[in-house]
Amino acid sequence: MIFKKLAITAMTGATLMASSAMADTNHVVIGTGGQTGVYYQVGGAICRLVNKNTATHDINCTHKTGGSVTNINGLRSGDVDMGVAQSDWQYHAYNGTAPDTFPDGAFKELRSVFSVYAEPFTVIARTDSGIKKFEDLKGKKVNIGNPGSGNRATMNIVMEKMGWTTGDFSVASELKASEHAAALCDGKIDAFIYVAGHPNGSIKEATTACDAIVVPVDNEVIHKLVDDNAYYAMTSIPGGMYNGTDTDTATFGIAATFISSTKADEETVYQMVKAVFENFKRFKKMHPAFANLEESKMISDSLSAPLHDGAIRYYKEKGWM
Ligand code: GLU
Repeated sequence: MIFKKLAITAMTGATLMASSAMADTNHVVIGTGGQTGVYYQVGGAICRLVNKNTATHDINCTHKTGGSVTNINGLRSGDVDMGVAQSDWQYHAYNGTAPDTFPDGAFKELRSVFSVYAEPFTVIARTDSGIKKFEDLKGKKVNIGNPGSGNRATMNIVMEKMGWTTGDFSVASELKASEHAAALCDGKIDAFIYVAGHPNGSIKEATTACDAIVVPVDNEVIHKLVDDNAYYAMTSIPGGMYNGTDTDTATFGIAATFISSTKADEETVYQMVKAVFENFKRFKKMHPAFANLEESKMISDSLSAPLHDGAIRYYKEKGWM
């Protein structure tokens, strides 16, 4: 939560000095994702850049795990001040178009800050499971993701479109992303779904600890889903990125976005955005999924909620809008 740690009424000179030293610390909490994913790295990178510059602002940035839906709900409740979320769930939260996921209706106070990298809908299967395409998941042990994650929310939509329920899998587990690689290689599941940037630690772990492949998600149902919804696009996961998959794998995807709400004040968001873009070369080196980021795309692509006033202030100052 953003809160000002104001000096408590001081009675003596000594107390006054001690309290003024800790006065006005502005704590900003970023909701991210599992530790082996990329959201966690986004939050960590932004906080590192913000926290190195405390001479020019009073912000102290920390980040915590979560997932798209948890992070959006956290912005609404005030549990977090900023967060990372999939662009499809940003869209649904702002527009109130997914009442099963967001029963409280349209979240009109939601604000975009910038978009980050592409997140393909990724299916990883153990080679000996015989799963070669998305349709082969039927009857298998599949980790459909934990409630609160964007993986799970998007998988729910895909399952509905495919005409599947959890009963169509021999096991439909709800493990967190940090647990799915070990579960795959231990044989507890045959496949998992992960909507995440590449390369990521979780899939590296799964494809080095056992024989596993990236499975194509490319059929008529998926093409119709993409055609019907502007926030989805067909994409591919580059071959050679993970052991066991040397050619590109077709799937669909969305973008990871950095978001906030009108509860966060303009100055705070301005300073957060400034810390990233004033150190942009460094930011891009902080994770391979950030390597190809471009400022102009980040401030315009995949953003369905209005930009936060603090972000607009910085982008205008730079002449970007
Ligand atoms: N897209 C995932 C989610 O919303 C998180 C991916 C990650 O942590 O990198 O839950």
